Amino acid sequence: MEKDQYRPETNAVRIQTEKTWQMEHSTPLFLTSSFTYDSAEEMRATFADETDNNIYTRFSNPNVDEFVQKVCALEGAEAGFATASGMSAVFASFMALMNAGDHLVSASSIFGSTHTIITKFLPKWGIEYSYFDINKPETVEALIKPNTKMIFVETPSNPGLEIVDMSVLAAIANKHNVILNVDNCFATPVLQRPIEQGAHIVTHSATKWMDGQGRVLGGIVVGRKDLIKEVHTFCRSTGPAMSPFNAWVLSKSLETLHIRMARHSESALSLAKALENNPHISWVKYPMLESHPQHAIAKKQMSAGGGIVCFELKGGLQSGTRFLDALKMLTLTANLGDSRSIASHPASTTHAKLTDAERAQVGITPGMIRISVGLENAQDILEDILQALEQSK
Ligand SMILES: *Cc1c(COP(=O)(O)O)cnc(C)c1O
Repeated sequence: MEKDQYRPETNAVRIQTEKTWQMEHSTPLFLTSSFTYDSAEEMRATFADETDNNIYTRFSNPNVDEFVQKVCALEGAEAGFATASGMSAVFASFMALMNAGDHLVSASSIFGSTHTIITKFLPKWGIEYSYFDINKPETVEALIKPNTKMIFVETPSNPGLEIVDMSVLAAIANKHNVILNVDNCFATPVLQRPIEQGAHIVTHSATKWMDGQGRVLGGIVVGRKDLIKEVHTFCRSTGPAMSPFNAWVLSKSLETLHIRMARHSESALSLAKALENNPHISWVKYPMLESHPQHAIAKKQMSAGGGIVCFELKGGLQSGTRFLDALKMLTLTANLGDSRSIASHPASTTHAKLTDAERAQVGITPGMIRISVGLENAQDILEDILQALEQSK
């Protein structure tokens, strides 16, 4: 495999599995569940970790390794392990690195399924948690206990786009010998590198911007070698391996991640600006708008704002459903980070079962719309949203 010897855009293109005897230019698909050896001695040495040979695709596979090497190069990480989905990456990072009796401190503004793992499953296995308000990182230190093992955050958070200063959390984590785990799904390593800000491990749903075209599920955990070794051991035995096919798709997708994120961010910023004074909207949230409450932190730790824009309809819950019905081009779907622009209304869908107070706690208001800005012409995206806003009253 080529080393990460170039600048990030080049590494995302040029890191590649060693050529086979066919001398192919781009990486073939290694759809094989296991690998062979020429001798008993080679097999023994491989099982004893004395070679870099593959054994079994649940442990490693050339396509999966290529994807892992690229993400490590992009994130500036020592090691990584790729999983079948973002949730298996988050879950593995928790289960591999915490034991019964440990304590997790997490921001409360997080992805719904992550919230379910933390509140429903971790307690079942004797792992306690405390939530903090992501807008008040100064409250984190008071939550740290002798058994605290990890601090977990998403920045920007899904869906509320809240942003937290990772270097502040890293200082607290290092002072108390706690692992800082950052879900970097929304920013991608193109816009933000949490390890440079002090994170010890970084988790991703590769399903979103990394794939970028809504085709495959995937996840990855990268970070400090000793921590990833634990994640590797956990995953190798429990089996949430990424499929070689998905890894092949994702590695190909990473070749265009830089140009895609630049375009998503540029179109999202222009959309956010165009909506700022719209009469049907009470607020617009985007990291690179000066009105974003954590704009200064966003500017410090992100190179651009990413592809998600949120706004609040003045007409609340009812306007939200009317807005979705009036859209002509934007798609109504549960995904984000696609080449096709997507609109979602969390209060009537993903977060419909929560009470208003619970929704407020995770940063969701009744008329909040989340737009995942795609790669269509930015004017077409804006025009569809403007006509739907007219009809949402
Ligand atoms: C979607 C998402 C996940 C879960 O990823 P899957 O690939 O759907 O399992 C985790 N974190 C964030 C921030 C997400 O947006």
